[in-house]
Amino acid sequence: MPRIAIIGGGISGLSAAFTLEEKRQSGAQSDTKIEYVLFESAPRLGGVLVTDRVDGCLVEAGPDSFLTEKPWAADLCRKIGLGDQLIGSNDADRKTYIVVHKNGRDKLVVMPDGLMFMVPTKILPTVFSPLFSLRTKMRMAGEWFHPPHKADADETVAQMVERHYGPEMVDRLADPLLSGVYGGEASQLSVRAVLARFADMEAKHGSLGRAMLASRKKMGAKSPARPLFSSLKDGMQQMVDALLARLDPAALRVSSPVQSVIPHSTADGWIVSAGYQTDQFDAIIVAAPTHAAAAVLEMADKNLAEELSAIRYSSSVTVTLGYDENVRRSLLPGFGFLVPRSAGHRMLAATFVHNKFPHRAPQNRALVRCFLGGARDEEILASSDEQILQIVRAELREIIGLEAEPLFARVYKWKSAMAQYSVGHIERVARIQKLCEKFPGLALAGNGFNGIGVPDCVRSGTEAATKVLSQLGMWSAA
Ligand SMILES: Cc1cc2nc3c(=O)[nH]c(=O)nc-3n(C[C@H](O)[C@H](O)[C@H](O)COP(=O)(O)OP(=O)(O)OC[C@H]3O[C@@H](n4cnc5c(N)ncnc54)[C@H](O)[C@@H]3O)c2cc1C
Repeated sequence: MPRIAIIGGGISGLSAAFTLEEKRQSGAQSDTKIEYVLFESAPRLGGVLVTDRVDGCLVEAGPDSFLTEKPWAADLCRKIGLGDQLIGSNDADRKTYIVVHKNGRDKLVVMPDGLMFMVPTKILPTVFSPLFSLRTKMRMAGEWFHPPHKADADETVAQMVERHYGPEMVDRLADPLLSGVYGGEASQLSVRAVLARFADMEAKHGSLGRAMLASRKKMGAKSPARPLFSSLKDGMQQMVDALLARLDPAALRVSSPVQSVIPHSTADGWIVSAGYQTDQFDAIIVAAPTHAAAAVLEMADKNLAEELSAIRYSSSVTVTLGYDENVRRSLLPGFGFLVPRSAGHRMLAATFVHNKFPHRAPQNRALVRCFLGGARDEEILASSDEQILQIVRAELREIIGLEAEPLFARVYKWKSAMAQYSVGHIERVARIQKLCEKFPGLALAGNGFNGIGVPDCVRSGTEAATKVLSQLGMWSAA
């Protein structure tokens, strides 16, 4: 009976395990039986998906939702019986502010209507927005006539955005939006890996504004409006719990860090070393962050390990503060605010959770979730929870005048958890895939390759499982 090992029990590894479990159950009545074992170094499964309940509020330690337009996470939720638990963000209240620091003061300026990611598609709201200087508004008007341009090589998001709209757009929108998603910087992240759609639009249409409008018209005709973000009624942890309820408990080994995986020297297959034990498998799925995958695969292939460890990761900190109803009444409407680097704060963004997902806080509570860290502030991890709280409270005072004492506070630190797709990432992933071809029965999954969001990780885990099953001759798409 073929045995498959999965290394890493975050959402990528659990999605791979679920695909294998489906196969295991379908094979129970036939002669295509399989066995799998999932190794997780931490004492719990789920990786960065963690939901706590505090004072009647639902507190997300890691991701709080996922993009609705990427279907893989919601599809998996439906498969594991959570279809009726899926919820959408409260888009009627969707308003995001940008912190603009002027004359020694912070001001919150609402992002103008019609911005698609950072591309303006409506003229009037942009013309009248105080977010941009006259110079940038002139650039936006000129952008409409940008000629098609196919870059010969990859470049940073900042380079592309600056070419179209100038440096203010990078500081006020591109950088804060990317630090919210990747904990990364526009001046480092690869446009082809992070905003492939922009590179295609520029090559075909020239103007990003015209291209966005054209695609919106096409989409608008086809699909009804959906909420931008989806999540689960009881939080992201619900996805982990439902997956675990469907997996074979005997297959799950927590507190089991894998030190190495090595191809068997005399037979097909792999030797996995975890703790003082070694075990033999026919195939391996490595679903850990690439820095951990590199360490595990070092003895198997030095070049592969080098390529994997060249993918950088940033760390992040989330801080959730709970307040009473007076604060709730005094806070602005909308989903929260983003903090450009030029505003001179350590906070990257804050979400007003009670507005974005109203049922996550009772009517008499306000829930504010703040993000810190990212590629430019790795040092924050060295601060104590107490120091981080002091920073957050001081900055909330400066930015939104929030003086009140929180009823509770939770700080979560995530070390090297967010992959940074730097220039040349796509080519690096292609090289990694090529190096893996030497090893039939090896598949990689996780947020280091083709998407950092939860849906992309679900897809990567599922694809890794189908890859090894098909290499073992046990998968047919039918
Ligand atoms: C603070 C934060 C907020 C986020 N917000 C969002 C959001 O709102 N929406 C969204 O779509 N995405 C969000 N993301 C991104 C997304 O959540 C992650 O990219 C995704 O969950 C990563 O899943 P994973 O399984 O690939 O990795 P992880 O969750 O990191 O899991 C990897 C697992 O591998 C284990 N491991 C490592 N080495 C070994 C070893 N040697 N042996 C055994 N096990 C090992 C680790 O302990 C870990 O449990 C956020 C991420 C963070 C950190």
